[in-house]
Amino acid sequence: MKIAVLKEGAGETRCAAIAETVKKFTALGAEVAVERAAGEGASVADSEFEAADAKVGSRSEVLKGAGIILAINGPDPSTLRGAEKGALLVGALDPLRRRDTIDGYAAAGLDAFAMEWMPRITRAQSMDILSSQSNLAGYKAVVDAAAAYGRAFPMMMTAAGTVSPAKVFVMGVGVAGLQAIATAKRLGAQVSATDVRSATKEQIQSLGAKPIFVENVAGIEGEGAGGYATEMSEEYQKAQAELVSSHIAKQDIVITTALIPGRPAPRLISDAQVASMRAGSVIVDLAADAGGNVEGAVRGEHVVKHGVTIIGATNLARSLAADASALFARNLYNFLSAFWDKEQGKVVLPDDDEIVKAIRLTQGGRIVNERLSAA
Ligand code: NAD
Repeated sequence: MKIAVLKEGAGETRCAAIAETVKKFTALGAEVAVERAAGEGASVADSEFEAADAKVGSRSEVLKGAGIILAINGPDPSTLRGAEKGALLVGALDPLRRRDTIDGYAAAGLDAFAMEWMPRITRAQSMDILSSQSNLAGYKAVVDAAAAYGRAFPMMMTAAGTVSPAKVFVMGVGVAGLQAIATAKRLGAQVSATDVRSATKEQIQSLGAKPIFVENVAGIEGEGAGGYATEMSEEYQKAQAELVSSHIAKQDIVITTALIPGRPAPRLISDAQVASMRAGSVIVDLAADAGGNVEGAVRGEHVVKHGVTIIGATNLARSLAADASALFARNLYNFLSAFWDKEQGKVVLPDDDEIVKAIRLTQGGRIVNERLSAA
């Protein structure tokens, strides 16, 4: 089985393989071919791939005879000419926003697999690219906030007087939010956090931060399928807005990470709430790609409103390309090796497997995923 690793397009720094995963695939009996300069943005030289026994070559050389094609982002189908019919294409394919591209894979006879649709089951935890990349994004959001903030995070008692600690508020305590709390604590900030899922309260406390929760609206658990949040009732949203208003005015840094799968991100901070913060405060909106949690946030930009810097963060994992590539590459390896048939020396993907059903998009020239057929 030959595995091709593609060089990503402009703007993407990550690579779908690192030397370690090349070695592991080789140990399974696979042959790995890496497109020239694929690891450049992630500080992996071609010579490192070669030392791990990969062949390095042009796009057409690596595609020739490959049974599996690995990528971070789904490549344009026109750039995959020469790929074998029936080859597996595995990466973050963004199926709902890039339906035409997915149709293109079907037309090319490729079996496309969208890693971001990995089900949230224990068996698939090590294959979950959303978690591995969100964790890094949560860390980077705090580092970026600290860089944009004109004051220090930790309390400092100096001969010239005391510097007070920054107050950091994290809204949305999933994978990114938990890492943001941990990072802000490490930097010495006073940290508080909120979520709609009551299970997060204990997690916030265990990281030494203060939970800020809506307590007076009964009967809302906030937890939907697969551990994800659901949309909240109007009554809850109103109570949350009031709670946030009084709290936010006293914060220096706010990191928002709230997402609801399949829906635009919930609006958590209004322009009036931004105006209530003191000048020099910083908000990082990690949901900027999904419509934003913060009124006035612009994707990929720093904007200043009422003296407050609002960072519309997009794909922060890209700015930690080496670590992000290593984790993404291991997610890909963990997926493929779990289905590796040693005797046949290839990946065997049973049609009725929960993981396969969730992430397979195309097969035999057709769209086969229910989520896409329904869209
Ligand atoms: P996410 O990125 O979908 O959302 C981020 C957070 O925003 C969530 O905690 C969500 O509850 C919160 N949120 C949504 N609406 C909100 C609102 N109006 N106000 C405040 N917060 C709001 O979530 P995620 O980071 O992907 O993680 C969600 C859960 O899934 C976590 O409990 C995580 O541990 C779990 N998880 C399980 C697996 C697995 O078992 N394989 C893998 C990854 C994550």
